[in-house]
Amino acid sequence: MAQALRVVHEESTEPLPGDPSLTRETMAQWRAGQKTCRARKRHNWGPFTVWEHRDFYEVVEQCSHCRNRRSAEFIKTDHGLRKATGWKADYRDGYLLPRGAMRIDEDLGDELTASDILSRKVVEVVDDPDDEKPATPKRTRK
Ligand SMILES: [Zn+2]
Repeated sequence: MAQALRVVHEESTEPLPGDPSLTRETMAQWRAGQKTCRARKRHNWGPFTVWEHRDFYEVVEQCSHCRNRRSAEFIKTDHGLRKATGWKADYRDGYLLPRGAMRIDEDLGDELTASDILSRKVVEVVDDPDDEKPATPKRTRK
């Protein structure tokens, strides 16, 4: 018997979304500094330790917010030092999302950003009710 071909759309090419409750569970353990780095999607690396080996230096830096560390090797050159390896991160326990957890999506990112920004000293501005919000600049060409 003849059967009409039907294209079945499967979302199998999309990565599995993962478990959001696992993500929330992990996020709940993060301290303010960890949330700050997650919200900003970058670290604030600063000096920590420099180990001098015979042929190279191992430079260790630490993030002042989340306390994670990273290290890289620098070789001695005629004029100074040159980075010889990429930075290798050394994440503290509980910083990385566990296997199977949903990645931080836009909504969770907004939560982290709010927690980062609203944990600062916030000064309320009393706006004149007649004033409109600053309008998005519009370009008019004539
Ligand atoms: Zn950090």
